[in-house]
Amino acid sequence: MADRKKQFAVIGLGRFGGSVCKELYNMGHQVLAIDNRDQKVNEFARFSTHSVIADSTDEKALQSLGIRNFEYVIVAIGDNIQSSILTTLVLKEMEVENVWVKAQNAYHHKVLEKIGADRIIHPEHDMGVRIAQHITSEKIVDYIELSDEYSIVELLATNKVHNRSIIDLDIRAKYGCTILAVKRGEDINVSPMPDDVIYKDDILIVIGHKRDLKRYEEEGL
Ligand code: ADP
Repeated sequence: MADRKKQFAVIGLGRFGGSVCKELYNMGHQVLAIDNRDQKVNEFARFSTHSVIADSTDEKALQSLGIRNFEYVIVAIGDNIQSSILTTLVLKEMEVENVWVKAQNAYHHKVLEKIGADRIIHPEHDMGVRIAQHITSEKIVDYIELSDEYSIVELLATNKVHNRSIIDLDIRAKYGCTILAVKRGEDINVSPMPDDVIYKDDILIVIGHKRDLKRYEEEGL
């Protein structure tokens, strides 16, 4: 079910982990917030379902929190790379299904990959790429990198495509890109039909090869 509440645990309540924790909690999910500093745990008591003091490198401590039962565990330990690695290792040994880890650098990333982290996040790098994309084109509203080759972008529809249908614009054949959704004010049309019409100032959420997306943004809009 799409609206089923998921169970999350966030380990490390610094700037990154703290933001993830608050946002998940505001979205209505169950969030267990963990940090080894009591000041952080107190601060997050009102931004989480439970907040507890624990050292996440201590397997027994994690066991007693029932961490195995959480669908997602986010390891957001910043500077202490050793603790981040050890925590990830313990979580994967305990067979936690989805362990997402913030990496500090390329070496950290490599080790995390080896020990089975399910997703490795580089917040500063990823945000830097998004901001750069954003400020170099007035048409790009947002940008998500899926891999070295593929991305999803939010593009602003200009006069050039105003009042034209998706089939008429023939975006997939001409540019190899696919429109996933069209946002118009508060409305969002997911999986638009070929004869749906686009208006100026609509936001198009488009997936494709980076090269094709760039060509579409420059020539098609
Ligand atoms: P950011 O760069 O996202 O702000 P920080 O390094 O400032 O990250 O924050 C990391 C958080 O992780 C800190 O609040 C710290 O107390 C916590 N932390 C570090 N090691 C452990 C550990 N072994 N167990 C639990 N929490 C930890």
